[in-house]
Amino acid sequence: MCIACRERAPQSQLLRLAVLTADEPRIVVDASRRLPGRGAWIHDSAACWKRARAKKAFSVALRSPGLPAPAHDGEDT
Ligand SMILES: [Zn+2]
Repeated sequence: MCIACRERAPQSQLLRLAVLTADEPRIVVDASRRLPGRGAWIHDSAACWKRARAKKAFSVALRSPGLPAPAHDGEDT
């Protein structure tokens, strides 16, 4: 399910997000889909990223309050 529009979609159509805790914790796009821990899923679309960013859906979904949203290629900001 996409954290922005909350529509169900196969994971093959979504990007996986995870918290990277190697040094400074940060939210990253898990391109390999193999990072451990809690993951969140989002459509690879500028609309869903803007929506998720606006309602801070990233940190909420990943239970990591305060962490900034990751960057998304193709977002016209
Ligand atoms: Zn979506």
